[in-house]
Amino acid sequence: MDCIFCDIINKKSYAEVLFENESAISFLDIKPINYGHTLVIPKIHYENFLDLPEDELSELIKVTKNISGAIVNSLNPEGFNVVTNNGIAAGQSVFHFHFHIIPIFKDEDFRFRLKLKEYKIGLMQEYANKIRAAVSV
Ligand code: AMP
Ligand code: ZN
Repeated sequence: MDCIFCDIINKKSYAEVLFENESAISFLDIKPINYGHTLVIPKIHYENFLDLPEDELSELIKVTKNISGAIVNSLNPEGFNVVTNNGIAAGQSVFHFHFHIIPIFKDEDFRFRLKLKEYKIGLMQEYANKIRAAVSV
């Protein structure tokens, strides 16, 4: 399987690695939204958030929190986004699960510019009922 992130893990491709342990690796995004934009990925190839087993996820989120702290302490952004894109429609371009950590230096640097919808009467409950019926935790 052709995967640029697996190549980085296996040192077949270069990346500016910030941290690595037995289960995760973190490196700078090659095309950053802002300088210091970082990715955190599991060393095992999972395509997306739903494929990631919970023990792997809890390890990965610990590393993501730790690296977020390092970014804040070293670069002093005003804020940061932690995001994950899942599926082409959501902007995923590398199909090896990853968290983005994006430092935000000024208010106008980066905003999710979404066109927000409004629920018509009853529609919010309809959506909530559909999702509640599928919750399995
Ligand atoms: P996504 O679009 O959410 O799947 O994010 C994939 C990210 O991986 C993009 O922000 C790319 O800039 C980044 N990326 C792709 N190839 C490399 C690479 N060789 N080294 C570092 N980052 C990469
Ligand atoms: Zn991979």
